[in-house]
Amino acid sequence: MKPYRPSAFVREALGIAPIAMAVAPYDTHCILCGSGISAGAPCTPRAETNFDAGTFNDVPSAQNRTGSFLCPDCLPLWRKEFLQSYSKMLVTPEGMFKIASNLDAASFLLAPPETPFMAYISNAQQQHLIWRTPVNYSPSASRCDSAPVCSPSAMTC
Ligand SMILES: [Zn+2]
Repeated sequence: MKPYRPSAFVREALGIAPIAMAVAPYDTHCILCGSGISAGAPCTPRAETNFDAGTFNDVPSAQNRTGSFLCPDCLPLWRKEFLQSYSKMLVTPEGMFKIASNLDAASFLLAPPETPFMAYISNAQQQHLIWRTPVNYSPSASRCDSAPVCSPSAMTC
């Protein structure tokens, strides 16, 4: 099974093409997801993004906040659409499904889908959650933000 990085998993589930404006001049890591970017690989320089424009208010959650490049998977997901419309989602290889109510969340926790999947629920406005959410390969384990791994049946997180 292909080990997915969260941004790649979501981008592929939605059928969105990767975006890159340059190639990396050296081995580095993505500002947002922290994944490795090899020298010569497609990426986008920090200066070509609005990372430093003062409008990005989730800098502490960036995995490599002092980095200089974004990977081709993160850049197409860095839009208001993902902060507002896709803030509570279940993501599978078949697509993204809204977790719109407490009943939806309970249904997901009690009967998770086939793996791999990822799910995230924002608890504040405009949170950047995709690159912080691990792709789940085990239906018996989940993680709630920075909480330790726990069982969905225990619902302690
Ligand atoms: Zn990335």
